[in-house]
Amino acid sequence: MKPADRAEPEAQLERIHEALLRPEPTPAVERILHKALDGHRISYEEGCVLMREGDLGSLGLVAGEITRRFHPDNIVTFVVDRNINYTSVCVTDCKFCAFYRHEKDPDAWVLSHEEILQKVGELAATGGTQVLIQGGHHPKLPFAYYTEMCRLIKRHYPQVAIHSFSVSEIRHFARAYKMPVREVIERLKEAGLDSVPGAGGEVLADRPRRIIAPLKDPARDWLETYELIADCGLRGSSTMMFGHVETLEERVEHLLRLREVQDRTAEKHGVGVFWSFICWTFQPGNTPLVAEGLHNGVATSSYEYLRTLAVARIFLDNIPNIQASWVTQGVRIGQISLDCGCNDFGGTMMEENVVAAAGTIYHATPADAIRLIRDAGKIPARRNTFYEILETY
Ligand code: SF4
Repeated sequence: MKPADRAEPEAQLERIHEALLRPEPTPAVERILHKALDGHRISYEEGCVLMREGDLGSLGLVAGEITRRFHPDNIVTFVVDRNINYTSVCVTDCKFCAFYRHEKDPDAWVLSHEEILQKVGELAATGGTQVLIQGGHHPKLPFAYYTEMCRLIKRHYPQVAIHSFSVSEIRHFARAYKMPVREVIERLKEAGLDSVPGAGGEVLADRPRRIIAPLKDPARDWLETYELIADCGLRGSSTMMFGHVETLEERVEHLLRLREVQDRTAEKHGVGVFWSFICWTFQPGNTPLVAEGLHNGVATSSYEYLRTLAVARIFLDNIPNIQASWVTQGVRIGQISLDCGCNDFGGTMMEENVVAAAGTIYHATPADAIRLIRDAGKIPARRNTFYEILETY
């Protein structure tokens, strides 16, 4: 494992272990958790009670049990992948983002197709099967830059799945190139896009979105785009980035909206559009949100991360896979999250720039992922983008 540049605070880990050993549910939390364990869907209001009052011990216990029902084989999957950020140039100026630059900034960059192909080649040489390509909302790159990029990757590395372009990028393309959103998705798919990562959702409630990302589309548009993605025969992952200015109720509203889209797309297409859900905490380092005094600069604790994750596992009864966010939380919390609702360790991420820009960098090789999953008492398995198991260890 490459050294993490931030030690995981021992005090937090002690508090988490203590909480997991001693569940202390309030009567209301206990009633709702029993309902979930009996296989009934919990309501928005009940989700809010769990989010407000639920203790980590009780939530983790029930989330772990629900995970076992989804995945009785005790397998925890991971994918060998690489993030590639094709440009840091962005016109959307999200206040939680430490990554973007304006076109004229001296340290702004755009990768050439040759550079991108070289990075995909390095991934393919290690047996990697997925590339997660995302970038800023560049105002001037032609649409052919993106479609040609996909075609080249497919031509040279057909074994690598393109799990790329967030919904906010897709909507940016539609605006910039004056195309219907559906046409953007269709043309990217035709060029080789295999799956869409859920980034850009942040928290799908308009009040916090207006504060943290005032130039991004409202929540409704993000959700509708996923319905179009399903109509075009693609699937993707869902996400939540929390711990900035949202309320606990807005976190549950976010989960509710995802659950509704999953229901609707499953009804229409026989399978829900979301492969998975992954949540991570806002990383405040170097962000305008802190510089403008809209956030105190203290990252949400790992305890709160695990609590929110467990509520998500219990609430999202129609999304099969929940991914750990060890990139923001570190590998030890990533391991603990496997007992609080996660069944997937995500990507080994040969390269990561966005979270790193906020000062948080954790890396794991495939060998690390196998060891960490095994040490957590689970069976490690390498998967592809489509959650098909390629190899069990
Ligand atoms: S999060 Fe994405 S869209 Fe927002 S400023 Fe950063 S790069 Fe641009």
